[in-house]
Amino acid sequence: MNIILLGPPGAGKGTQAKILVDERGMTQLSTGDMLREAKTSGSEMGNRAAEVMNRGELVSDDIVVGLIEEKLAAPHGAGFIFDGFPRTLAQADALGDLLARHGETLDAVVEMRVDDAALTRRITGRFTCANCGAVYHDETKPTAKAGVCDVCGGTTFTRRADDNEDALRQRLMEYYKKTSPLIGYYHAKGALRVVDGLAPIDAVAGAIRKVLDNS
Ligand code: ADP
Ligand code: AMP
Repeated sequence: MNIILLGPPGAGKGTQAKILVDERGMTQLSTGDMLREAKTSGSEMGNRAAEVMNRGELVSDDIVVGLIEEKLAAPHGAGFIFDGFPRTLAQADALGDLLARHGETLDAVVEMRVDDAALTRRITGRFTCANCGAVYHDETKPTAKAGVCDVCGGTTFTRRADDNEDALRQRLMEYYKKTSPLIGYYHAKGALRVVDGLAPIDAVAGAIRKVLDNS
């Protein structure tokens, strides 16, 4: 089963993707994570992408479609979770072509609805384990023991360069202008399922579980 988690920055896509990886053995494909890895590796593409990301703008379709294309050929267990991809209509068309070429289907597009005020609180409180990438929040999902990652025991945490109010304003604008048209695009294909992303993490996971079990 292949699914897309669709929603604005901070909607909880990465958090829910990790739950699905643990529960179902699916493979998370986050273009944001791939771009950040490219930056860490010091590649020229990574450095150029980082400048665009820090401004809160979208990286070019060619780059992110290329990143996804590389991953589709690899073994993927119980299916792919596309997290943060596609973000434009051109990317959605490209994904449709790539899946068809690999003999794969798209089984559900889960739209996670969250209002802008909650997104700002989520983004400004987000931090990540530098070792394993587990995602936390100062208020809604702190580590069980202060300063120690629940998942791997790591003690170093990072905050994203683009998780500030200025970049978020731009990221939200990009979402509403370029990504939200995908809601109509997938609705027209009969693939769209909506969940309340404002609910607590476990409740959102339950709603997604129900959607996937019925898809
Ligand atoms: P996205 O991948 O959509 O950008 P994340 O999964 O990284 O979003 O979540 C953004 C922040 O909000 C993180 O700090 C995360 O711990 C927190 N968060 C995620 N889902 C919820 C939720 N349902 N309720 C409260 N906080 C949440
Ligand atoms: P994310 O980790 O999903 O919040 O993405 C962080 C940033 O990476 C975005 O603000 C964009 O600059 C870039 N990015 C991630 N995925 C895409 C995509 N599918 N298309 C264009 N840019 C992307």
